[in-house]
Amino acid sequence: MPVFNEAESLPELYRRMCKVMDGLDGTCELILVNDGSQDGTPQLLRALQTADARVRVLEFSRNFGHQMAITAGLDYAGGSAVVIIDADLQDPPEAIPQLVAEWQRGAQVVFAVRAKRLGESWLKRSTAAAFYRIINRLTELHIPLDSGDFRLLDRQVVLALREVREHHRFMRGLSVWLGFRQASVQYVRNERFAGVSKYPMRKMLRFAADGITSFSYVPLQLATTLGFIAAGMALLGIPAVLLLRLSGYLAFEGQATTLSSVLLLGGVQLIFLGIIGEYLGRIYNEVKKRPLYILSAQLGFNESQNKLPKP
Ligand code: UDP
Ligand code: MG
Repeated sequence: MPVFNEAESLPELYRRMCKVMDGLDGTCELILVNDGSQDGTPQLLRALQTADARVRVLEFSRNFGHQMAITAGLDYAGGSAVVIIDADLQDPPEAIPQLVAEWQRGAQVVFAVRAKRLGESWLKRSTAAAFYRIINRLTELHIPLDSGDFRLLDRQVVLALREVREHHRFMRGLSVWLGFRQASVQYVRNERFAGVSKYPMRKMLRFAADGITSFSYVPLQLATTLGFIAAGMALLGIPAVLLLRLSGYLAFEGQATTLSSVLLLGGVQLIFLGIIGEYLGRIYNEVKKRPLYILSAQLGFNESQNKLPKP
């Protein structure tokens, strides 16, 4: 569970998680990854950890982001199945038994698909809907529409996912990319229990760009298509203009036509320079091979789990 400034939700979250964990047959561990919170979250997590042996805490040295927090949780999870769930109670813990039931029936990746989204703005819902449609069109992936990161992964999938160490991680795409037997169950996405979304528009756009660039070259290839169209137009246009000019029928006047075509082409070129930049920057980040996240503490793990993940 990734946790970033969720002190207000944590007590209720823990209460509801305990109920669910008590109801499952078998033992559970609850891994909370503190993603550099600046409110009372670290103290609360430490208190929970001392009181309950099932609770394990990973602390990041700073905010590394939601996807890295999920990554760290998966790196340290010991279970034969692992559930990823948000800490703001938008994903109801009560849906976990459904995921587990599907897993017991043989599925290895069980998506929780939002049948309904309560309490989210029109803007968030419509941009999310558009995004999933776009990414499914642009890539070979088939991410179930309206699935977040709330899902269950079998241990085999978790082990495979640990091998994937890319920096610009789009976890919900990666777990589809891995394959394995996939299934989905429906749930109603609740309102946030407390606080505000930690995903402002800027961060959401970054996240969307990561999703698209890490699974598709289509934005790069668009430049080729547009280039062919523009060159084709020029090939037809140049002889036409020459002919009209030489035969004295038509003289183009003024600089307006020149200026607008220069601006149009200049604009298109700059956009594609930007797109190339997006990919180039990501390649640069990947070749630096920095660790994905830095831990400042790990609490409650036993010796065998107490290992640092591969860089
Ligand atoms: N989160 C995180 N690091 C961040 C932002 C968010 O660990 O930098 C966590 C957050 O605490 C929550 C989950 O990721 O458990 C989803 O975030 P949020 O609810 O803000 O996103 P939304 O549901 O609005 O898309
Ligand atoms: Mg949320």
